[in-house]
Amino acid sequence: MNFENSIAFARRLDKEDALNNFRNRFLFPQHNGKDCIYFTGNSLGLQPKNTLTEIQKVLDDWSALAVEGHFKGNRPWMHFHDRLTKPLSNVVGCLPGEVVIMNSLTVNLHLMMVSFYRPTQQRYKIICEAKAFPSDQYAFESQVRFHGFDPDKAVIEVHPRNGEHTLRTEDILAAIEEHANETALVLFSGINYYTGQYFDLKTITQAAHKAGVCAGFDLAHAAGNVELKLHEWNVDFACWCTYKYLNSGPGAVSGAYIHERFATDKNFPRFAGWWGNNKQTRFKMEKEFDAIPSAEGWQLSTPPALLLAAHKASLDIFEEAGIENIHAKRKALTAYLHFILNDINQKNKESTIEILTPSNEEERGCQVSMFMHKNGKEIFDALTEEGIIADWREPNVIRIAPVPLYNTYEDVWRFGNIIENIL
Ligand SMILES: *Cc1c(COP(=O)(O)O)cnc(C)c1O
Repeated sequence: MNFENSIAFARRLDKEDALNNFRNRFLFPQHNGKDCIYFTGNSLGLQPKNTLTEIQKVLDDWSALAVEGHFKGNRPWMHFHDRLTKPLSNVVGCLPGEVVIMNSLTVNLHLMMVSFYRPTQQRYKIICEAKAFPSDQYAFESQVRFHGFDPDKAVIEVHPRNGEHTLRTEDILAAIEEHANETALVLFSGINYYTGQYFDLKTITQAAHKAGVCAGFDLAHAAGNVELKLHEWNVDFACWCTYKYLNSGPGAVSGAYIHERFATDKNFPRFAGWWGNNKQTRFKMEKEFDAIPSAEGWQLSTPPALLLAAHKASLDIFEEAGIENIHAKRKALTAYLHFILNDINQKNKESTIEILTPSNEEERGCQVSMFMHKNGKEIFDALTEEGIIADWREPNVIRIAPVPLYNTYEDVWRFGNIIENIL
Protein backbone atom coordinates (compact mmCIF):
# COMPACT_ATOMS: atom_id res chain seq x y z
CA MET A 1 0.00 0.00 0.00
CA ASN A 2 1.11 3.59 -0.65
CA PHE A 3 1.00 5.31 2.68
CA GLU A 4 0.84 9.04 3.34
CA ASN A 5 2.04 10.91 6.39
CA SER A 6 -1.12 12.95 6.99
CA ILE A 7 -3.94 12.94 9.47
CA ALA A 8 -6.53 12.79 6.68
CA PHE A 9 -4.92 9.65 5.30
CA ALA A 10 -4.68 8.04 8.76
CA ARG A 11 -8.34 8.80 9.39
CA ARG A 12 -9.31 7.28 6.09
CA LEU A 13 -7.55 4.04 7.03
CA ASP A 14 -9.38 4.03 10.35
CA LYS A 15 -12.69 4.47 8.58
CA GLU A 16 -11.98 1.53 6.34
CA ASP A 17 -10.78 -0.62 9.24
CA ALA A 18 -13.30 -3.36 10.09
CA LEU A 19 -11.75 -3.80 13.57
CA ASN A 20 -11.90 -0.11 14.46
CA ASN A 21 -14.93 -0.56 16.73
CA PHE A 22 -13.19 -3.10 18.91
CA ARG A 23 -11.43 -0.28 20.72
CA ASN A 24 -14.77 0.45 22.37
CA ARG A 25 -14.48 -2.87 24.18
CA PHE A 26 -11.58 -1.58 26.26
CA LEU A 27 -11.07 0.87 29.10
CA PHE A 28 -8.42 3.54 28.50
CA PRO A 29 -6.46 5.50 31.10
CA GLN A 30 -7.46 9.17 30.99
CA HIS A 31 -5.40 12.25 30.27
CA ASN A 32 -7.00 15.71 30.59
CA GLY A 33 -10.43 14.15 30.32
CA LYS A 34 -9.62 12.16 27.16
CA ASP A 35 -8.55 8.60 26.41
CA CYS A 36 -4.81 8.18 26.38
CA ILE A 37 -3.13 6.80 23.30
CA TYR A 38 -1.94 3.53 24.71
CA PHE A 39 1.13 2.00 23.11
CA THR A 40 2.26 -0.31 25.91
CA GLY A 41 0.06 -3.33 25.30
CA ASN A 42 3.35 -5.24 25.04
CA SER A 43 3.76 -4.65 28.77
CA LEU A 44 0.20 -4.68 30.12
CA GLY A 45 -2.76 -4.96 27.77
CA LEU A 46 -5.80 -2.75 28.39
CA GLN A 47 -8.72 -3.97 30.45
CA PRO A 48 -11.69 -5.23 28.43
CA LYS A 49 -14.95 -3.70 29.65
CA ASN A 50 -16.32 -7.21 29.94
CA THR A 51 -13.70 -8.30 32.48
CA LEU A 52 -15.69 -6.92 35.38
CA THR A 53 -18.86 -8.74 34.24
CA GLU A 54 -17.02 -12.03 33.92
CA ILE A 55 -15.35 -11.71 37.31
CA GLN A 56 -18.66 -10.64 38.83
CA LYS A 57 -20.22 -13.91 37.66
CA VAL A 58 -17.64 -15.89 39.61
CA LEU A 59 -18.15 -13.70 42.67
CA ASP A 60 -21.92 -14.15 42.39
CA ASP A 61 -21.61 -17.92 42.22
CA TRP A 62 -19.21 -17.89 45.12
CA SER A 63 -21.60 -15.84 47.28
CA ALA A 64 -24.77 -17.71 46.26
CA LEU A 65 -23.43 -21.25 46.01
CA ALA A 66 -20.13 -21.33 47.86
CA VAL A 67 -18.57 -24.78 47.41
CA GLU A 68 -21.37 -25.85 45.08
CA GLY A 69 -20.04 -23.31 42.58
CA HIS A 70 -17.55 -25.94 41.52
CA PHE A 71 -20.41 -27.85 39.89
CA LYS A 72 -23.30 -25.38 39.54
CA GLY A 73 -24.00 -21.80 38.56
CA ASN A 74 -22.90 -19.58 35.69
CA ARG A 75 -19.70 -21.43 34.86
CA PRO A 76 -19.02 -24.40 37.10
CA TRP A 77 -15.42 -23.80 38.17
CA MET A 78 -14.66 -27.47 37.87
CA HIS A 79 -14.70 -27.23 34.06
CA PHE A 80 -14.00 -23.54 33.54
CA HIS A 81 -10.43 -23.98 32.28
CA ASP A 82 -11.50 -26.70 29.82
CA ARG A 83 -13.74 -24.24 28.01
CA LEU A 84 -10.90 -21.84 27.34
CA THR A 85 -8.50 -24.27 25.71
CA LYS A 86 -10.28 -24.18 22.33
CA PRO A 87 -10.22 -20.39 21.86
CA LEU A 88 -6.67 -20.27 23.23
CA SER A 89 -5.50 -23.02 20.88
CA ASN A 90 -6.65 -20.81 17.97
CA VAL A 91 -4.46 -17.98 19.22
CA VAL A 92 -1.28 -20.06 19.47
CA GLY A 93 -2.01 -22.50 16.65
CA CYS A 94 -2.25 -25.94 18.21
CA LEU A 95 -4.66 -28.67 19.20
CA PRO A 96 -6.90 -27.96 22.19
CA GLY A 97 -5.31 -30.90 24.03
CA GLU A 98 -1.90 -29.28 23.68
CA VAL A 99 -2.63 -26.22 25.82
CA VAL A 100 -3.16 -25.79 29.51
CA ILE A 101 -3.96 -22.58 31.38
CA MET A 102 -2.18 -22.48 34.71
CA ASN A 103 0.21 -20.67 37.06
CA SER A 104 2.28 -17.73 35.91
CA LEU A 105 4.91 -17.53 33.22
CA THR A 106 8.20 -18.04 35.04
CA VAL A 107 6.62 -20.86 37.04
CA ASN A 108 5.57 -22.55 33.82
CA LEU A 109 8.99 -22.02 32.31
CA HIS A 110 10.47 -23.91 35.25
CA LEU A 111 7.85 -26.66 34.99
CA MET A 112 8.55 -27.06 31.28
CA MET A 113 12.28 -27.22 31.97
CA VAL A 114 11.69 -29.91 34.58
CA SER A 115 10.19 -31.98 31.78
CA PHE A 116 12.39 -30.93 28.87
CA TYR A 117 15.75 -30.01 30.39
CA ARG A 118 17.14 -33.26 31.75
CA PRO A 119 20.85 -32.89 31.19
CA THR A 120 23.46 -35.66 31.17
CA GLN A 121 27.24 -35.37 31.53
CA GLN A 122 27.44 -35.45 27.73
CA ARG A 123 24.45 -33.24 26.92
CA TYR A 124 23.86 -30.37 29.31
CA LYS A 125 23.89 -27.12 27.31
CA ILE A 126 21.01 -24.75 26.71
CA ILE A 127 21.18 -22.69 23.53
CA CYS A 128 19.38 -19.36 23.90
CA GLU A 129 19.49 -15.75 22.76
CA ALA A 130 21.83 -13.26 24.43
CA LYS A 131 19.93 -10.67 26.49
CA ALA A 132 16.91 -12.87 27.04
CA PHE A 133 14.35 -11.42 29.46
CA PRO A 134 15.98 -11.42 32.94
CA SER A 135 13.48 -13.82 34.50
CA ASP A 136 14.28 -16.33 31.76
CA GLN A 137 18.01 -15.89 32.31
CA TYR A 138 17.53 -16.55 36.03
CA ALA A 139 15.42 -19.61 35.25
CA PHE A 140 18.12 -21.01 32.91
CA GLU A 141 20.92 -20.33 35.38
CA SER A 142 19.14 -21.81 38.36
CA GLN A 143 18.02 -24.90 36.43
CA VAL A 144 21.57 -25.48 35.24
CA ARG A 145 22.94 -25.12 38.80
CA PHE A 146 20.18 -27.32 40.16
CA HIS A 147 21.49 -30.10 37.93
CA GLY A 148 25.05 -29.48 39.10
CA PHE A 149 26.40 -27.66 36.04
CA ASP A 150 28.10 -24.31 35.63
CA PRO A 151 25.95 -21.69 33.87
CA ASP A 152 29.05 -20.13 32.28
CA LYS A 153 29.65 -23.39 30.44
CA ALA A 154 26.11 -24.64 30.06
CA VAL A 155 24.19 -21.55 28.92
CA ILE A 156 25.22 -20.81 25.34
CA GLU A 157 24.01 -17.37 24.27
CA VAL A 158 23.77 -16.44 20.62
CA HIS A 159 24.79 -12.79 20.08
CA PRO A 160 24.07 -10.34 17.29
CA ARG A 161 27.05 -9.65 15.05
CA ASN A 162 29.13 -6.56 15.69
CA GLY A 163 27.20 -3.44 14.78
CA GLU A 164 23.91 -5.36 14.51
CA HIS A 165 21.03 -5.41 16.96
CA THR A 166 19.17 -8.53 16.03
CA LEU A 167 20.11 -12.15 15.49
CA ARG A 168 20.58 -13.80 12.14
CA THR A 169 18.80 -17.12 11.86
CA GLU A 170 21.91 -18.58 10.21
CA ASP A 171 23.91 -17.71 13.35
CA ILE A 172 21.35 -19.41 15.58
CA LEU A 173 21.50 -22.51 13.40
CA ALA A 174 25.30 -22.46 13.40
CA ALA A 175 25.34 -22.32 17.21
CA ILE A 176 22.96 -25.26 17.45
CA GLU A 177 25.11 -27.22 15.04
CA GLU A 178 28.36 -26.28 16.75
CA HIS A 179 27.14 -27.50 20.15
CA ALA A 180 24.92 -30.27 18.81
CA ASN A 181 26.57 -33.09 20.74
CA GLU A 182 26.57 -31.32 24.10
CA THR A 183 23.17 -29.67 23.88
CA ALA A 184 20.22 -30.69 26.04
CA LEU A 185 17.73 -28.01 24.99
CA VAL A 186 17.19 -25.11 22.58
CA LEU A 187 15.18 -22.40 24.30
CA PHE A 188 14.43 -19.00 22.77
CA SER A 189 11.83 -16.34 23.21
CA GLY A 190 9.30 -16.05 20.41
CA ILE A 191 9.85 -12.31 20.19
CA ASN A 192 12.74 -10.64 21.99
CA TYR A 193 11.25 -8.16 24.47
CA TYR A 194 13.86 -5.47 23.78
CA THR A 195 14.34 -5.47 20.01
CA GLY A 196 10.95 -6.84 19.01
CA GLN A 197 12.62 -9.44 16.76
CA TYR A 198 10.34 -12.37 15.97
CA PHE A 199 12.48 -15.47 15.64
CA ASP A 200 11.94 -18.14 13.03
CA LEU A 201 10.39 -20.74 15.33
CA LYS A 202 9.90 -23.33 12.64
CA THR A 203 13.48 -23.27 11.39
CA ILE A 204 14.96 -23.18 14.90
CA THR A 205 12.81 -26.16 15.88
CA GLN A 206 13.94 -28.11 12.81
CA ALA A 207 17.58 -27.41 13.65
CA ALA A 208 17.10 -28.50 17.26
CA HIS A 209 15.47 -31.74 16.14
CA LYS A 210 18.31 -32.34 13.72
CA ALA A 211 20.69 -32.00 16.67
CA GLY A 212 18.57 -34.54 18.53
CA VAL A 213 17.08 -32.17 21.12
CA CYS A 214 13.84 -30.39 21.87
CA ALA A 215 13.03 -26.76 21.13
CA GLY A 216 10.94 -24.65 23.48
CA PHE A 217 9.89 -21.00 23.35
CA ASP A 218 8.87 -18.29 25.76
CA LEU A 219 6.04 -16.60 23.90
CA ALA A 220 5.40 -13.73 26.34
CA HIS A 221 5.68 -11.16 23.54
CA ALA A 222 4.34 -13.40 20.80
CA ALA A 223 1.07 -14.88 22.11
CA GLY A 224 -1.85 -12.75 20.95
CA ASN A 225 0.56 -10.70 18.85
CA VAL A 226 1.91 -12.72 15.91
CA GLU A 227 0.66 -15.68 13.96
CA LEU A 228 1.75 -18.92 15.61
CA LYS A 229 1.45 -22.48 14.35
CA LEU A 230 3.04 -24.34 17.20
CA HIS A 231 1.69 -27.75 16.29
CA GLU A 232 2.39 -27.50 12.58
CA TRP A 233 5.89 -26.18 13.22
CA ASN A 234 6.46 -29.17 15.47
CA VAL A 235 7.50 -26.98 18.42
CA ASP A 236 8.05 -29.20 21.47
CA PHE A 237 6.83 -26.86 24.20
CA ALA A 238 6.08 -23.21 24.87
CA CYS A 239 4.78 -20.96 27.61
CA TRP A 240 3.53 -17.39 27.79
CA CYS A 241 1.89 -14.84 30.05
CA THR A 242 -1.53 -13.40 29.29
CA TYR A 243 -1.25 -9.88 30.65
CA LYS A 244 0.60 -8.46 27.63
CA TYR A 245 -1.14 -8.86 24.26
CA LEU A 246 -3.73 -11.18 25.78
CA ASN A 247 -5.24 -8.45 27.98
CA SER A 248 -6.04 -10.70 30.92
CA GLY A 249 -4.88 -8.40 33.71
CA PRO A 250 -1.83 -7.88 35.92
CA GLY A 251 -0.33 -11.17 37.05
CA ALA A 252 -2.97 -13.04 35.07
CA VAL A 253 -3.03 -16.82 34.73
CA SER A 254 -0.60 -18.07 32.08
CA GLY A 255 -0.52 -20.68 29.37
CA ALA A 256 1.64 -23.59 28.34
CA TYR A 257 1.76 -25.71 25.20
CA ILE A 258 3.12 -29.24 25.03
CA HIS A 259 3.22 -31.05 21.70
CA GLU A 260 0.83 -33.98 21.67
CA ARG A 261 3.65 -36.53 21.23
CA PHE A 262 4.66 -35.66 24.81
CA ALA A 263 1.30 -34.48 26.13
CA THR A 264 -0.32 -37.86 25.49
CA ASP A 265 2.58 -39.76 27.07
CA LYS A 266 1.40 -40.37 30.61
CA ASN A 267 4.86 -41.38 31.69
CA PHE A 268 6.63 -38.29 30.39
CA PRO A 269 8.59 -36.81 33.33
CA ARG A 270 7.02 -33.88 35.14
CA PHE A 271 6.26 -32.43 38.54
CA ALA A 272 2.72 -33.59 39.27
CA GLY A 273 -0.26 -32.30 41.22
CA TRP A 274 -3.81 -33.51 41.75
CA TRP A 275 -5.29 -31.34 38.96
CA GLY A 276 -3.17 -33.14 36.43
CA ASN A 277 -4.60 -36.47 37.52
CA ASN A 278 -7.23 -38.52 35.69
CA LYS A 279 -10.55 -36.76 36.31
CA GLN A 280 -12.37 -40.03 36.99
CA THR A 281 -10.16 -40.87 39.91
CA ARG A 282 -8.96 -37.44 41.07
CA PHE A 283 -11.34 -37.26 43.99
CA LYS A 284 -10.79 -40.80 45.14
CA MET A 285 -7.71 -39.26 46.70
CA GLU A 286 -5.65 -42.37 46.15
CA LYS A 287 -1.94 -42.97 45.79
CA GLU A 288 -0.13 -43.02 42.43
CA PHE A 289 -0.49 -40.22 39.96
CA ASP A 290 -2.38 -41.12 36.78
CA ALA A 291 -1.71 -38.31 34.30
CA ILE A 292 -4.43 -36.86 32.09
CA PRO A 293 -3.13 -37.69 28.57
CA SER A 294 -3.07 -34.07 27.42
CA ALA A 295 -1.31 -30.82 28.39
CA GLU A 296 -3.72 -30.73 31.31
CA GLY A 297 -1.61 -33.50 32.82
CA TRP A 298 0.88 -30.77 33.81
CA GLN A 299 -1.69 -28.85 35.83
CA LEU A 300 -0.89 -28.84 39.52
CA SER A 301 -3.49 -26.93 41.44
CA THR A 302 -7.11 -25.91 41.56
CA PRO A 303 -7.53 -23.43 38.69
CA PRO A 304 -7.96 -19.77 39.75
CA ALA A 305 -11.58 -19.07 38.71
CA LEU A 306 -11.30 -15.29 39.14
CA LEU A 307 -8.26 -15.14 36.87
CA LEU A 308 -9.83 -17.51 34.35
CA ALA A 309 -12.83 -15.17 34.20
CA ALA A 310 -10.54 -12.28 33.23
CA HIS A 311 -8.81 -14.48 30.66
CA LYS A 312 -12.16 -15.49 29.19
CA ALA A 313 -13.27 -11.86 28.79
CA SER A 314 -10.21 -11.29 26.61
CA LEU A 315 -10.38 -14.54 24.64
CA ASP A 316 -14.02 -13.76 23.80
CA ILE A 317 -12.83 -10.59 22.07
CA PHE A 318 -10.17 -12.50 20.12
CA GLU A 319 -12.79 -15.02 18.99
CA GLU A 320 -15.21 -12.34 17.90
CA ALA A 321 -12.63 -10.23 16.07
CA GLY A 322 -11.11 -13.29 14.38
CA ILE A 323 -7.44 -14.05 14.69
CA GLU A 324 -6.75 -13.64 10.93
CA ASN A 325 -8.33 -10.17 10.95
CA ILE A 326 -6.25 -9.20 13.95
CA HIS A 327 -3.05 -10.30 12.19
CA ALA A 328 -3.98 -8.46 8.99
CA LYS A 329 -4.56 -5.22 10.87
CA ARG A 330 -1.43 -5.68 12.97
CA LYS A 331 0.68 -5.95 9.83
CA ALA A 332 -0.85 -2.87 8.23
CA LEU A 333 -0.72 -0.77 11.40
CA THR A 334 2.91 -1.64 12.12
CA ALA A 335 3.83 -1.06 8.48
CA TYR A 336 2.27 2.40 8.78
CA LEU A 337 4.36 3.13 11.87
CA HIS A 338 7.54 2.07 10.04
CA PHE A 339 6.54 4.24 7.10
CA ILE A 340 6.03 7.31 9.35
CA LEU A 341 9.36 6.78 11.10
CA ASN A 342 11.21 6.39 7.80
CA ASP A 343 9.47 9.50 6.51
CA ILE A 344 10.67 11.49 9.53
CA ASN A 345 14.21 10.19 9.00
CA GLN A 346 14.17 11.22 5.35
CA LYS A 347 12.98 14.73 6.13
CA ASN A 348 15.71 15.11 8.71
CA LYS A 349 18.41 14.02 6.27
CA GLU A 350 20.44 12.17 8.88
CA SER A 351 18.75 9.16 10.49
CA THR A 352 17.64 10.52 13.82
CA ILE A 353 15.56 7.48 14.68
CA GLU A 354 17.34 4.14 14.42
CA ILE A 355 14.82 1.34 14.26
CA LEU A 356 16.19 -1.68 16.15
CA THR A 357 13.29 -3.94 15.17
CA PRO A 358 13.72 -5.84 11.88
CA SER A 359 12.22 -4.08 8.88
CA ASN A 360 11.12 -7.41 7.41
CA GLU A 361 7.47 -8.03 8.25
CA GLU A 362 8.08 -11.74 8.90
CA GLU A 363 10.53 -10.91 11.65
CA ARG A 364 8.45 -8.61 13.79
CA GLY A 365 5.12 -8.24 15.57
CA CYS A 366 3.44 -5.06 16.82
CA GLN A 367 6.39 -3.69 18.67
CA VAL A 368 8.84 -1.19 17.26
CA SER A 369 11.95 -0.35 19.29
CA MET A 370 13.61 2.94 18.39
CA PHE A 371 17.01 4.20 19.33
CA MET A 372 16.70 7.99 19.41
CA HIS A 373 19.90 9.65 18.26
CA LYS A 374 18.52 13.12 18.97
CA ASN A 375 16.32 14.56 21.74
CA GLY A 376 15.27 11.11 22.97
CA LYS A 377 14.17 12.03 26.48
CA GLU A 378 12.65 15.32 25.31
CA ILE A 379 10.54 13.44 22.78
CA PHE A 380 9.49 10.89 25.35
CA ASP A 381 8.44 13.61 27.81
CA ALA A 382 6.48 15.41 25.09
CA LEU A 383 4.66 12.17 24.29
CA THR A 384 3.73 11.76 27.95
CA GLU A 385 2.50 15.34 28.09
CA GLU A 386 0.24 14.68 25.10
CA GLY A 387 -1.28 11.63 26.76
CA ILE A 388 0.67 9.06 24.79
CA ILE A 389 1.82 6.13 26.90
CA ALA A 390 5.04 4.60 25.55
CA ASP A 391 7.95 2.77 27.13
CA TRP A 392 11.33 4.34 27.83
CA ARG A 393 14.48 2.26 28.24
CA GLU A 394 17.85 3.74 29.11
CA PRO A 395 19.95 4.95 27.43
CA ASN A 396 17.80 6.21 24.58
CA VAL A 397 15.26 3.65 23.51
CA ILE A 398 11.53 4.17 23.04
CA ARG A 399 9.46 1.05 22.56
CA ILE A 400 5.90 1.25 21.34
CA ALA A 401 3.43 -1.38 20.26
CA PRO A 402 0.39 -0.35 18.21
CA VAL A 403 -2.08 -3.07 19.16
CA PRO A 404 -4.64 -3.92 16.46
CA LEU A 405 -7.54 -4.39 18.88
CA TYR A 406 -7.36 -0.89 20.32
CA ASN A 407 -4.90 1.33 18.47
CA THR A 408 -5.70 3.36 15.36
CA TYR A 409 -3.80 4.69 12.37
CA GLU A 410 -4.47 8.15 13.76
CA ASP A 411 -2.71 7.13 17.01
CA VAL A 412 0.32 6.20 14.94
CA TRP A 413 0.19 9.44 12.94
CA ARG A 414 -0.06 11.51 16.16
CA PHE A 415 2.96 9.74 17.57
CA GLY A 416 5.00 10.64 14.49
CA ASN A 417 3.66 14.18 14.47
CA ILE A 418 4.88 14.87 18.01
CA ILE A 419 8.34 13.57 17.14
CA GLU A 420 8.44 15.72 14.00
CA ASN A 421 7.45 18.82 15.94
CA ILE A 422 10.31 18.36 18.36
CA LEU A 423 12.91 17.59 15.71
C1 LIG B 1 7.03 -10.44 30.49
C2 LIG B 1 7.99 -11.56 30.45
C3 LIG B 1 8.20 -12.39 31.57
C4 LIG B 1 7.52 -12.12 32.87
O1 LIG B 1 7.41 -13.28 33.63
P1 LIG B 1 6.33 -13.41 34.82
O2 LIG B 1 6.64 -14.71 35.41
O3 LIG B 1 4.98 -13.30 34.19
O4 LIG B 1 6.57 -12.26 35.75
C5 LIG B 1 9.08 -13.45 31.43
N1 LIG B 1 9.72 -13.68 30.27
C6 LIG B 1 9.54 -12.90 29.17
C7 LIG B 1 10.26 -13.21 27.90
C8 LIG B 1 8.68 -11.80 29.24
O5 LIG B 1 8.53 -11.02 28.19
